[in-house]
Amino acid sequence: MSEIKNTISFIREIYQTQDFIPLHEPRFVGNEKKYLLDTIDSTFVSSVGAYVDRFEEMMQDITQTKKAVAVVNGTSGIQVALRLVGVNSGDEVLTQALTFVATANAIAYNGAKPVFIDVDLDTMGLSPKAVQNFLEEYGELREDGCYNKKSGNKIAACLPMHTFGFPVYIDELIKICDDWKIPVVEDAAESLGSEFKGRPTGSFGEVGIFSFNGNKIVTSGGGGAIVTNNDALGIKAKYLTTTAKQPHAYEYVHDELGYNYRMPNLNAALACAQLEKLNWFLEKKIELAKRYEEFFKGADAKFRTELSETKANYWLMCVELENRNARDLFLKETNEAKVMTRPIWELMFRLPMYQDCLKDEQGNAKFLVDRIVNIPSSVK
Ligand SMILES: *Cc1c(COP(=O)(O)O)cnc(C)c1O
Repeated sequence: MSEIKNTISFIREIYQTQDFIPLHEPRFVGNEKKYLLDTIDSTFVSSVGAYVDRFEEMMQDITQTKKAVAVVNGTSGIQVALRLVGVNSGDEVLTQALTFVATANAIAYNGAKPVFIDVDLDTMGLSPKAVQNFLEEYGELREDGCYNKKSGNKIAACLPMHTFGFPVYIDELIKICDDWKIPVVEDAAESLGSEFKGRPTGSFGEVGIFSFNGNKIVTSGGGGAIVTNNDALGIKAKYLTTTAKQPHAYEYVHDELGYNYRMPNLNAALACAQLEKLNWFLEKKIELAKRYEEFFKGADAKFRTELSETKANYWLMCVELENRNARDLFLKETNEAKVMTRPIWELMFRLPMYQDCLKDEQGNAKFLVDRIVNIPSSVK
């Protein structure tokens, strides 16, 4: 039997079904129904409520940050996070081209321009070395921050993304960005529960964001969180995402352009129940990853495991195929057999809206995009 056929049988054995196997399904094994009914009984289903507060406290606890703010989704979280660290229209933001489109979109929503810097082959996330090289060529330190001396634009933020829950070399990245006075915002949408040298991803940058979309490790139906250790930014995050309203007993005073990006209490209720089970999810993910690791030992498809000094949440598991043809064949045969697999995302500078953006050589991103495939990763 061919390796791909073997792989299909193995995945069917894991999930114990002959039916369609999705890439990632939510699981509800805790207090989800109870909490949802609570919100209905309380009538607090909308933009304020006890579960929103509880969700924010739980997120502060889990990510070891001072302030968490619940938002309507991860994308809006990144949009606001960038504004919080001072990104303005016309600025440049350093990020990776190998990411989900929301990362780049959130930059564009601020009127800013993504600059695509290469990823590392091992982490699949933004490469500190590549950022350093770029800044040595383009960066110019001025009183009020870093500028791109060729375009004249401010380099107002750096936005790394922890691909599939595998942490980037965040400590090195922060050090380089500190030297160049560039604030770091972590797109930790995929990496809830992941750690770098014992500290949760999302807690390293000035601001971090998480997503609770239905396909993430845990879900609120739809939702996100902004986290920070900077008290002032935490307060500002809440204010901007709740229509920039000044507190007042009865008057409506909105003194800045704000957003209605609140997470409804209904969604927060679901999120609380899911977060209570986060450790259960993480343990189940490791169990599954171990089975895959064992299965793929010596195979042509290389299973990706966590790097030393990191803990991955194994949100979406992946294999690296030998080349583009092997990747295409793997995708074709597995999907035809109703075992859902997906290629990693198309590189951002290949999408029409980002094709004119500044970028570096992108050798690693191009290598990975031809080879990385996600395999079914739901916990059982
Ligand atoms: C899921 C995801 C987001 C966006 O989250 P939503 O809640 O769907 O808006 C952002 N960035 C990355 C890398 C993601 O995977």
